[in-house]
Order: sequence, then structure tokens, then C-alpha cells
Amino acid sequence: MTGPLSQKLFATAKGFIPGGVNSPVRAFRNVGGEPFFVRRAKGSRIEDVDAKTYIDYIGSWGPNILGHAPTVVTNTIHEVAKDGVSFGIPNPFEVEMARTITEWVPSVEKVRMCSSGTEATMSAIRLARGFTKRDYIVKFNGCYHGHSDSLLVAAGSGALTHGEPDSAGVPAAFAEKTIVLPYNDFEALEKVFKEQGDQIAAIIVESYPANAGLIFPKPGYLDRLSSITKENGALLIFDEVMTGFRLGKAGVQGIENLTPDLSCFGKVIGGGLPVGAFGGRADVMDLLAPIGPVYQAGTLSGNPLAMAAGLAQLKELSKISGFPRLEELGAYFESGLRKLMDAKGIPYRFNRTGSMFCLFFTDREIVNVDDVMKQDLELFKKFFWGCLDKGIYIAPSPYETGFLSLAHTEADLDDTLTVFEEVLSSI
Ligand code: PMP
Repeated sequence: MTGPLSQKLFATAKGFIPGGVNSPVRAFRNVGGEPFFVRRAKGSRIEDVDAKTYIDYIGSWGPNILGHAPTVVTNTIHEVAKDGVSFGIPNPFEVEMARTITEWVPSVEKVRMCSSGTEATMSAIRLARGFTKRDYIVKFNGCYHGHSDSLLVAAGSGALTHGEPDSAGVPAAFAEKTIVLPYNDFEALEKVFKEQGDQIAAIIVESYPANAGLIFPKPGYLDRLSSITKENGALLIFDEVMTGFRLGKAGVQGIENLTPDLSCFGKVIGGGLPVGAFGGRADVMDLLAPIGPVYQAGTLSGNPLAMAAGLAQLKELSKISGFPRLEELGAYFESGLRKLMDAKGIPYRFNRTGSMFCLFFTDREIVNVDDVMKQDLELFKKFFWGCLDKGIYIAPSPYETGFLSLAHTEADLDDTLTVFEEVLSSI
């Protein structure tokens, strides 16, 4: 149960906003309840309008890697805003951002900024189609790449939680050009390229799928995605909107030592402001307008506040060696959690990499979204509400990934595990 002010706001919101929210997962429908409304947030904590505080494991769904409202970011926003908040003409921050992304991610030779992850993946798909002069794209069941028409087919995240992988309003003719494969299935991949390899523009994949829980590739799977696209004249698009600049300087491609043709980014590079980016091989990127025939644009693209906030966040991450510390926190959390779950004897799986994690209430091996869907949803719901009641905010859906930030402390994690233990004992 949320507090009276949250309840009142939600009742009002429903009169003016569809479902009372501006993005579906926020409605808490998947856990059968109503959302709380946030008053403010700082560090690892969120405070709601009823003055209840929570340790937060969502961090605005990924961007807040330094925690909420880090001073380096908020000071930058204050300073930069004094000189103007949007120009619609080039500004120096865009150049520095592009330089930083290309320095951190070696596969990215050129990059274009936009305002959301959805725009990044949508534009990368258009570019791949323009470059290859082919129409078909391959995506994987349960991978979410934002809500553009071609990609809202067998998607994860909010689309999955609501049991509506395919949205009304997406013309069948668009969806037909999207081939959906089961993730981690080598045979299905070989088969589709054997049959249609010369018509496929690109494979788009979440570098580590993190919108249907958190799923890891089987050994050799990402390598095969890379080689099969090369063999067939298609492009490999890595969607690193969630993993990019979170799992390391070069994201999953750095960890796995891969060189995708194009990559998509968002979240962390905006410091909490609206942002997206896509980049990769210069010969492909140079097909974009104004120098090439593939059109892509944005009124707020390269917005000075978003660029400056993102740069401040990236610089701080680098300065304080954020990634090793996030791994340390993640490992600490994982070992405590495993001890606790083993002692409880509840069937579970726990997937984690660095600061991203997902607890599944199932003992099935998590290979793809089918395994994720088999978990004990009723148990998850009780667990979620029990935790929320005791001031721990995890994602209101069993299909979302949790995030640690550099503002979390070992004491926060200990407190969280104590709550997990109490809640699991009571249900
Ligand atoms: N790709 C991935 C992997 C994502 O996780 C998301 C959003 N969670 C998107 C794309 C879409 O980004 P946005 O919500 O900024 O449009």
C-alpha cells in the first residue's frame, strides 16, 4: 500500500494521463497495485510524497550510476543552464561527448546524438537498412529496444510485463520485416541465415538481454552473431542502451572483446537527462543526412544540458574508478544474497554482472525468455510489496533488471538483505 498523498495523486493522474503514468511499467500493474510518487531523491535513497524513504535499486532504470542527484552532475546542470538550455545549433559539449564516446568505445568511429534509446535503435535500424539496401532485420524474443514499430515485436520490458509483446497500431507489414528468433539458439540462427541471409540488413541484440530479467549469452553465441552477419553482408547492431557505460568503459563489447558494426547508447551518458546515441563504423555512419541519404534528425539532439550532465557523470566515473567499485559492491551483494537464499531453501536463480542483477524465483536455468516466464509470479508479488513496505524499492516487475549505484554502501546492502530475509520468512 502506498501513502495517502501518492494515492490521491494517482487518482488525479488517471483523469488526465492514460493509466496515470507516462511509461507503462511505472503503473505497478504487474504487481497488482499502485505506484508511489517521488518527492526527491539523493544518493541511494528515494523519498516519496508521503515522506517515506526507500533504498532504491532502479536508479531511474539505469542512468543514475553515481546515485541520485550527484553534486558533480547537479552543479554542472546549474552552471550550464545559466548560459542557455537549448540552442538548436552546434555547441562544444556535443563535440566533447562524441570524442569521449569514440575514445571509450573503440568500435565507434563516429556517433550521432539523439534524445532517447528508442530513437537510437530506430535510427540504427534505418541506417543498417539504408547501408545494406535490405529490409529484413533479426531480433530476439524478449529483447526490448524501445517502442518503434519495427522493434516492438516480441519485445521485453513493459511490453512483456503486460503480456502484449505486439502492440496494437503496429502495421503487420512492418512487423513482417522483423524476424524474431529465440535467444541463445544457435540452430535457429543458422537456419534463418541459410534461408534468408541475403535479405537481412542487420541483427539487433541487447548486448546482455536485460529487459526480460537478466540473461547471459551462451559461450560463443555473440561471436557467432558477429561472424554470421559478416559472412552474409549484414550488420551487427549492439543495443548497449542499458549496459553501455555501466558495465565498463566499452560496455559488453569491451568485456566480450567484440566489434559490432553499430552500437546504441542512452541512460548513463545523459546523467539523468533525456539522451540517446548511436554510432559505429565511419563508412556506415557517413550515410546519415546531411552527407548521406539516410534521414535522421532531432530538435533537442545534442542538447547542451544533457551533454554537459552526461560528460560530468562520465568524467566522475573515470576519476573515481567507478567500475571496479561497482563490481565490488555487486559481488558483496551477490554473496550475501546467495547465502540467504540457500539458507531459505527457496528455488532461485541469481544473475549478476557488475552493478546489474536479477533474482528469479525459479530453479530453471535461465537461457531465454521462456525460462524467465516460468518463475513464481505470486511469490514475486508478495516479495515486492513486503520489500516496499519495509523501505526497499526493487523493480515492480519480475522481468526487470536491478541496478546498484556508486552511492550504495555495504551498509545499504546489509540492510536490504535483512529486509529480504524478513520478507521471505513472512511469506
Ligand atoms: N534499448 C534497451 C536495451 C533499453 O533497455 C531501453 C529502455 N529501457 C531502450 C532501448 C529504450 O530506451 P528509451 O526508454 O530511452 O527510449
